[in-house]
Amino acid sequence: MLSSEQEHIALGIDVGGTGIKAAPVDVSAGKLVAERLRVLTPQPATPKAVSATVTEIVNYFRWDGPIGCGFPAAIRLGKVKIAANVSKKWIDKDIETLFANAAGRPVTVLNDADAAGLAEMRFGAGSEQKGTVIVITLGTGIGTGLFVDGHLVPNTELGHIDIGGRDAESLAAAIVREKKKLSWKEWSEGLDKYLAKIQFFVWPDLIILGGGVSKKHEKFIPHLSVDAKIVPAQMLNQAGIVGAAAATLGL
Ligand code: BGC
Repeated sequence: MLSSEQEHIALGIDVGGTGIKAAPVDVSAGKLVAERLRVLTPQPATPKAVSATVTEIVNYFRWDGPIGCGFPAAIRLGKVKIAANVSKKWIDKDIETLFANAAGRPVTVLNDADAAGLAEMRFGAGSEQKGTVIVITLGTGIGTGLFVDGHLVPNTELGHIDIGGRDAESLAAAIVREKKKLSWKEWSEGLDKYLAKIQFFVWPDLIILGGGVSKKHEKFIPHLSVDAKIVPAQMLNQAGIVGAAAATLGL
């Protein structure tokens, strides 16, 4: 067991639609300190089934220290408020209590994109960045983390803004490119429309594009025409875990 007596180590858990990833993280350095565990998200991903996976993860790492968890929904006062890509059974569930019971200790739960954003702001593409920064994760859905002078404005859910009568997620999430077999350029057109809307409503100083596609940024960022500064995320598939662990220190 890694010594959780070392105060700066927390277990980060990132719950996604297909996989749940976890690792102990040095939250002062933003680095994983043991190999990442990835397990399949139980299907259907009900509160009971996902809580059982949390127990498995805690047992696997024999963890007795702080735990933070990113979850793909708005989380207000420890409760799940919307469920776009997870079982509707989650709505209004007290996820912090469920996971604390599953883990046998308190668990800080926050929105997954807020978690990924925290990691980018503290250790990645947004470090030291002042002003308004939006971190946008492009995956099965679109998640957003909004920061003002490095402080998180939680639960922005700007992946669901309306674009010509459609939920932005159905136009520009990374999964849309795969499902519709679009070229990078074709997919970028939808993404560009989405970013233009974000620019219109938020006027960010910096847009950080994250999610698995960020490692292929040279295939689509050059096609974007929005005049805000756009950079790829740097923390790649570790952002969610690192940010969730970092959230145990406070947002
Ligand atoms: C959810 C967000 C989440 C995003 C990325 C959206 O469908 O509403 O809460 O951050 O997907 O997982």
